Amino acid sequence: MSKYIFVTGGVLSSLGKGITSASIAALLQHSGFKVTMVKIDPYINVDPGTMSPFEHGEVFVTEDGAETDLDIGNYERFLNKNLSKKNNFTTGQIYLTVIEKERRGDYLGKTVQIIPHITDEIKRRIKDVAKDVDIVVVELGGTVGDIEGLPFLEAVRQIKQEVGKSNAMFVHVTLIPYIKAAGELKTKPTQHSVQELRRIGITPHMLVCRTEKPLPKSLKTKLADSCDIERDAVIEAVDAPTVYQVPLNFLNQDILVPISKQLDLGELHPDMTEWNFIVKKIISPQKSVKIAFVGKYLQLKESYKSLIEALIHSGAHLDMKVEIEWVDSEDLEKMDDEKLDEVFNEISGILVPGGFGERGVEGKLKAIKYARENKIPYLGICLGMQLAVIEFARNVLGLEYANSQEFDPDTPEPVVYLIDEFIDASGQRQLRTHKSPLGGTMRLGGYECFVQKGTKLYEAYKTDKVIERHRHRYEVNGAYEEALKEKGMIVSGKSVEGLVEAVEIKDHPWFVAVQFHPEFTNKLKSPNKVIMSFVENAYKFEKKI
Ligand code: GLN
Repeated sequence: MSKYIFVTGGVLSSLGKGITSASIAALLQHSGFKVTMVKIDPYINVDPGTMSPFEHGEVFVTEDGAETDLDIGNYERFLNKNLSKKNNFTTGQIYLTVIEKERRGDYLGKTVQIIPHITDEIKRRIKDVAKDVDIVVVELGGTVGDIEGLPFLEAVRQIKQEVGKSNAMFVHVTLIPYIKAAGELKTKPTQHSVQELRRIGITPHMLVCRTEKPLPKSLKTKLADSCDIERDAVIEAVDAPTVYQVPLNFLNQDILVPISKQLDLGELHPDMTEWNFIVKKIISPQKSVKIAFVGKYLQLKESYKSLIEALIHSGAHLDMKVEIEWVDSEDLEKMDDEKLDEVFNEISGILVPGGFGERGVEGKLKAIKYARENKIPYLGICLGMQLAVIEFARNVLGLEYANSQEFDPDTPEPVVYLIDEFIDASGQRQLRTHKSPLGGTMRLGGYECFVQKGTKLYEAYKTDKVIERHRHRYEVNGAYEEALKEKGMIVSGKSVEGLVEAVEIKDHPWFVAVQFHPEFTNKLKSPNKVIMSFVENAYKFEKKI
């Protein structure tokens, strides 16, 4: 039978509940168990893909084409494995399923209620994921006491009741604030949030305490006694230099002892040697390299979460610190050549990530032109590839009006255009037009890319077929392919249907742009190969190797 660890949060949001959950899961996985994770989001949105990156951070895309919360990305990076659409669900999706069932008449005219219908659907989804693993770590989004969270807490309480004592564990992540004026760490908010949990029938077995300062033993004892928790199950989570240090910090406090006691797992000896090695390289690498990151969602860096992590991981594996120079694409728009020189003067690589909408596009085009003409290593991702093609068409082919239909639906030179028919990740034919709703009409998830031998892309992957994840609506227009090639653009990757998946530029040290998002397959232990190749080539450029 599978075992369950439910992770709840108290006092505040943003305490690192996702990292705590992933750290516990990683430690159990390294102890030899088959582990997976679930993230429950209490918001009503059915389709997280349509949520603004300014407000919500990145939309992560799974191999099977689900647009999920960015925590799923953390889980994949920690667990070094692909998760699926089943590993993340929202209140909206739960209600939608129940309402659809009701409309179909599945409830035979009964009154449909939160208990048992909503809670049953929540339990069904969690148990479905638990089916093929030893342990599932379930992170409940939000904070205990939120109105939206109640049905989820009730559902997981019921699961504990059903699977029995040694098969379920509750971990509560909480804050121990330090009050400067009093010079004291305070336990009261934690006591209150544990009381709130108890009120709905859940007694946590472990407290993970976020704190700025180490917790004295006496305070841990006080917490344990007042919250009715074993003394060895009060774990301190001080701020760490990197999130990947967190499992190691937990291990140093013997976190697996109380977990094993509760879940009856026997003696555990996780092998964290490789992990430890990588973390050391993240914290103090020998070399460094500077990359310009030309984006438009810069107020909320979480919008580029996976890409930032991918640069860190690549750096760690190359023994390098990747210093990111944030460049706002809209600022570039107003700059003359001299000013551009100033911005990119100390830069060894230029990165244009994915994006939607017209804002900042002209600035990104300027950065791409600069990289092409000054032979600075360039990596373009999704929109960053579409714009590389547009820049080339405008400035090398001389097609002044070259554009994407996304920005000018009536452009006379649609080098990037909307295909109205494609096969989705599950093999279904999808149709779309300009008027299609924004949710659910994108090419999403893992698709094969056939890599052309003798290209930079091949040098990076060293194989002729890769599966990378996609999230886009527009494509490079095949009608321009020959003209682009004639002037020195190389198509280095294609999809099964012949769509352009990657381009490069001849006579340039390293100019690679890809239609997919390589950052989504990137993991701590296995960084994405194109991103790593970009970082490596940026370093070579800097050192003139
Ligand atoms: N906006 C572009 C498209 O929809 C690129 C998307 C992206 O960069 N993720 O095709």
